[in-house]
Amino acid sequence: MLYVILLDSKAQQTELEWISYPPSGWEEISGLDENYTPIRTYQVCQVMEPNQNNWLRTNWIEKGDAQRIFVELKFTLRDCNSLPGVVGTCKETFNLYYQETDSEVGRNIRENQYVKIDTIAADESFTQGDLGERKMKLNTEVRIIGPLSRRGFYLAFQDVGACIALVSVKVYYKKCWSIIENLATFPDTVTGSEFSSLVEVEGMCVSDAEEEADNSPKMHCSAEGEWLVPIGKCICKAGFHQKGDACEPCGRGFYKSSSQDLQCSRCPAHSYNDREGSWRCDCEDGYYRGLSDPPSVACTRPPSAPQNLVYNINQTTVSLEWSPPADTGGRNDVTYRIMCRRCSWEPEECVPCGGNVGYSPQQAGLVDTYVSVVDLLAHANYTFEVEAVNGVSDLSRTQRLFAAVSIATSQATPSQVSEVIKERVQQRSIQLSWQEPEQPNGVITEYEIKYYEKDQKDRIYSTVKSRSTSATVNNLKPSTAYVFQIRAFTAAGYGTYGPRLEVTTKEEASGTTATIVSSEQNPVIIIAVVAVAGTIILVFMVFGFIIGRRHCGYSKADQEGDEELYFQCTKTYIDPETYEDPNRAVHQFAKELDASCIKIERVIGAGEFGEVCSGRMKLPGKRDMSVAIKTLKVGYSEKQRRDFLCEASIMGQFDHPNVVHLEGVVTRGKPVMIVIEYMENGSLDAFLRKHDGQFTVIQLVGMLRGIAAGMRYLSDMGYVHRDLAARNVLVNSNLVCKVSDFGLSRVIDDDPEAVYTTTGGKIPVRWTAMEAIQYRKFTSASDVWSYGIVMWEVMSYGERPYWDMSNQDVIKAIEEGYRLPAPMDCPPGLHQLMLDCWQKDRADRPKFDQIVGILDKMIRNPNTLKTPVGTCTRPISPLLDQSTPDFTTFRSVGEWLEAIKMERYRDNFTAAGYSSLDSVARMSIEDVMSLGISLVGHQKKIMSSIQTMRAQMLHLHGTGIQV
Ligand code: AMP
Repeated sequence: MLYVILLDSKAQQTELEWISYPPSGWEEISGLDENYTPIRTYQVCQVMEPNQNNWLRTNWIEKGDAQRIFVELKFTLRDCNSLPGVVGTCKETFNLYYQETDSEVGRNIRENQYVKIDTIAADESFTQGDLGERKMKLNTEVRIIGPLSRRGFYLAFQDVGACIALVSVKVYYKKCWSIIENLATFPDTVTGSEFSSLVEVEGMCVSDAEEEADNSPKMHCSAEGEWLVPIGKCICKAGFHQKGDACEPCGRGFYKSSSQDLQCSRCPAHSYNDREGSWRCDCEDGYYRGLSDPPSVACTRPPSAPQNLVYNINQTTVSLEWSPPADTGGRNDVTYRIMCRRCSWEPEECVPCGGNVGYSPQQAGLVDTYVSVVDLLAHANYTFEVEAVNGVSDLSRTQRLFAAVSIATSQATPSQVSEVIKERVQQRSIQLSWQEPEQPNGVITEYEIKYYEKDQKDRIYSTVKSRSTSATVNNLKPSTAYVFQIRAFTAAGYGTYGPRLEVTTKEEASGTTATIVSSEQNPVIIIAVVAVAGTIILVFMVFGFIIGRRHCGYSKADQEGDEELYFQCTKTYIDPETYEDPNRAVHQFAKELDASCIKIERVIGAGEFGEVCSGRMKLPGKRDMSVAIKTLKVGYSEKQRRDFLCEASIMGQFDHPNVVHLEGVVTRGKPVMIVIEYMENGSLDAFLRKHDGQFTVIQLVGMLRGIAAGMRYLSDMGYVHRDLAARNVLVNSNLVCKVSDFGLSRVIDDDPEAVYTTTGGKIPVRWTAMEAIQYRKFTSASDVWSYGIVMWEVMSYGERPYWDMSNQDVIKAIEEGYRLPAPMDCPPGLHQLMLDCWQKDRADRPKFDQIVGILDKMIRNPNTLKTPVGTCTRPISPLLDQSTPDFTTFRSVGEWLEAIKMERYRDNFTAAGYSSLDSVARMSIEDVMSLGISLVGHQKKIMSSIQTMRAQMLHLHGTGIQV
């Protein structure tokens, strides 16, 4: 509070010279105050005389900006009782008046122009002390006048017969002192005119501060000169922080990005600044801040190139898969984009693939690490660059980093003949025309027109071939509905049939006879004729037997749900046991190699008949290659030799990319050897166990697709494997899986998993179908059962089927209808396929051909392979439950990690302070990642186990765990 004094009689050293009227009344007298300081006083004491009216008027007081004036009077007043002989005339009060004027007025006092403020009485008056001394009692009275509207005023004192000494007259008003509050300055402010009025004052922000949004600073000056009710505030601008009542710049190496922040912060990682008062820090060389990155995050850089780019070509579709980059640049917004270029052969020049090529799910902004590029040209060279990009890639001027592959698409069959037009319809002939398929994928050498009578019960197809895009089909029945379908043929084979076209021939006009159009009349080359299916099957079966190992006939196939008859020819497997001389079988199917071409390098495994080695083979005129060499141990019997070579006789009959390839045999020297293509990654079960959790689902399904394709080939050849298991599948350096381990008696003798069953004979129980265990019914359908088990092994990274259950228990469980549950993170569609393979009735199991089709569809639509989050993929049956560890039985984090085969991360958990299962159950994926577990597969495995643990705890305690 600030007092502004307008008049202080005490402070005046010279005479006051106020106007006194009548002159006999108030009298100016010099005196001393209680501190003996000289003062000017006015006194009057006409107590003896009646009817007193003595006026004293101050000089003119300019009020300035005051509205409410305080008048403080100090005076003494004699007690009438203490004055003898004054009864009736002596008074003990006086009156206080004021007159407002804009300027000084004359020296005359006109009573009626004064406004009375109050009658002033003494609280104390002079009294005579006991000893007769006079004690002076000084009274202080304060009166307030206002609101005042003129520039100034006079005060007047009216005495009506009292004995008064006016010791001091002080006139002042109050102001609120200027202050700084909430970083805003409020100036000196005169109080309001009324006692209750508050004067609202706007604050001004101190330098380097700004008003808080929608909250400008205000305060209220009360009538008492006090600041009340602060509202709103100022805050230090970006780059400045508050120190006391001022804003100071942030120091070097610090920044404050917004006025909202309270403190300056140290520059985030990979950024710096060397000036004061910065609102952000600059990125170090090679580091950037994304457009939407706030200044508080570290500067980041573009990611390194994706890793382990692999591809898979299926005709004109290329699937690419890769692993995330080793360095994400410090960001978690990494996506991928694909650059496709088509290259000419000679000279090699590449141009962007353009819009004719399709990308699934898309070309850029890929979140997952795979893409399918479709509609490529057949038999063409392409390069694909896969680039990892993040929020700062486009800001960087450094060289792009990408993983690249050059791929040659294989031959592809032509696409469908989509539109067929009936040109001319006669009684016995129909002329059709059509457009070349959109993607011929090569030179179309002919078209095949397939047709049948629509209403015929036994559907018999006839085919006609044409070299042009039109044909006339003759020898038809009048008034008959026919269904036509056309497909194109190139060097790569037939395309698929186009849509069906139904045409009805005209009614027969009486007397018309059938005519057969000759080749000269018609450009169509008529090659095929109507044939009865049964006859053809018979003819071809006989023919197949004569030409040897070829099996031809009409088969039923399912093409997009429609059953169709199609004609197929497959090589048939010949059992080497049917040869009287087994040596002849070996040499019929396997090439005899010169032992000098083979160099054994090291032992890689143990086979039943001897060691399995790796080595090199260099055939004359051919490139030197890696091979696996199976040797026959010395001292073998003739039967052992026969059995050993039997595998070569079987393997030599196969030629398929997913069946291990036999290079040849050495029978004319010692040791006797079987030379096989070298599969760098050895057997699949051990390989998966070694790389537990390291593959994407697509990679795993890719492996399964390979095995299924190999098995389709074998079953098409009529070969029943009997011992399909992950241990009998080999993996090469490109992750291509190939079926191996062929033999007749080998299943029985060689496989350590094979055990004697009650039906007599050794059987690998866990992999074998029920009917094969029960009554040795081994068929391709029982191989499908085994394939289902292989699927389970693959999806669980080499887990032992049925864990540590005994073989007897497994047989019992299977007979009772129990089946293996879905492995951890296994997409439901894949588990369903496994369950289909384990149908009790073998006729209900899918064929390998269908399995390949289903897996292909899954690979083409990776969305179908997503494991729904939060769903429990495990059915609820006692057996099925076994794959889920019971978390309530674990006593420590270590035990749990061991159970899920992740004990390698024990130290990571301990170091981060996760010492109890309770704390583990609360972990989020970010927590798991922060432990330094970088393999996505392992993160998923751990996270999935944590979710199950959480669910079990929830079930047990009935309480939720907040994560
Ligand atoms: P087998 O007698 O065929 O079961 O072979 C015994 C072991 O030798 C297998 O488990 C493999 O680890 C290894 N092996 C067999 N064939 C090959 C091959 N072609 N390439 C690499 N390793 C092989």
